[in-house]
Amino acid sequence: MKKYNFNAGPSILPREVIENTAKQILDFNGSGLSLMEISHRAADFQPVVDEAVALIKELLDIPEGYSVIFLGGGASLQFMQIPANFLIKKAGYVNTGTWAKKAMKEAKHFGEVVEVASSSSDNYTHLPHNYTIPTDLDYLHICSNNTIFGTELRKDLDSPVPLIADMSSDIMSRPVDVSKYDAIYAGAQKNMSMAGVTVVIIKNDKLGLAPRELPTMLDYRTHVDKGSMFNTPPVVPIYTLLETMRWVKAQGGVEAMDKNAHERSEALYKEIDRNKLFRGTVEESDRSLMNICFVMNDEYKELEKPFLDFATERGMVGVKGHRSVGGFRASCYNAQTMEGVNALIKAMKDFEAQH
Ligand SMILES: *Cc1c(COP(=O)(O)O)cnc(C)c1O
Repeated sequence: MKKYNFNAGPSILPREVIENTAKQILDFNGSGLSLMEISHRAADFQPVVDEAVALIKELLDIPEGYSVIFLGGGASLQFMQIPANFLIKKAGYVNTGTWAKKAMKEAKHFGEVVEVASSSSDNYTHLPHNYTIPTDLDYLHICSNNTIFGTELRKDLDSPVPLIADMSSDIMSRPVDVSKYDAIYAGAQKNMSMAGVTVVIIKNDKLGLAPRELPTMLDYRTHVDKGSMFNTPPVVPIYTLLETMRWVKAQGGVEAMDKNAHERSEALYKEIDRNKLFRGTVEESDRSLMNICFVMNDEYKELEKPFLDFATERGMVGVKGHRSVGGFRASCYNAQTMEGVNALIKAMKDFEAQH
């Protein structure tokens, strides 16, 4: 049966990206060796890193003065690596949910952390609005898309201080004004690649300012200076990332990804709002285009499990909601198809007709 992958991460990748990576795993560039067996210092692999960096810079229109590096450790390591490198005296964090809170917790190891705004009292069903950003912060940290709660800040904030963003789950889904950020980071397994590589975009002249001794591996300059080759980088995930970036470009770049994301999410939210069984969990203006969260209306609560079974029988994978929200979550990253979304909408309509 055809499967429709709505997993929140690791998540759906374009079929051709998987096929092209599979070919290179069997025989890398006709070398007779697998991509898994070559040295990261092999002459053939450097062009992979170079092209991947160049495509990220091109697709996100990254200005001069920024570096793009590939690291291990996931976005979770960035929760501490960011403050280790960028926190001089005081940093501000916007608390929009689980990941934002984890980032804030780690930053406290390195200096003063201010929670500038929070929507925790409403269980993160909306983004904080109308808050004032203090002007004495080294940076303001935001999580642009809240993967678990399904809220998204789909624009670049106007801020009196530099922004740093966890864009793990919406990077490459829209144009971004990178010049507003000192750093952007993303675990690649949502929108850019398989799990195993983290992309970090950093403003070079902001490095080396923090008043602390950094272990070599934690200092971004180590990885900038060595072009992500200080130690063995995750070779296969970087190759998969390159294939994904080629795919994004061939589809029309981040503008096309943005347009597709709007089409998919508008169709799905429209059905959630129309269908008598379901309701969305997030205030309309803050709804994520990437992670679409919805629950059964109270009077149909007992139909939650039956609907999951119904959708599963039709090939839907990963639509169970995160335990902190319950209900359902359909993740619609770049590689999600309108066909997949329509299959889910059809399942919602057919299930409604039975009840
Ligand atoms: C998935 C996710 C993370 C965690 O990423 P890891 O690579 O597993 O550390 C952090 N932030 C956001 C927004 C995420 O979606």
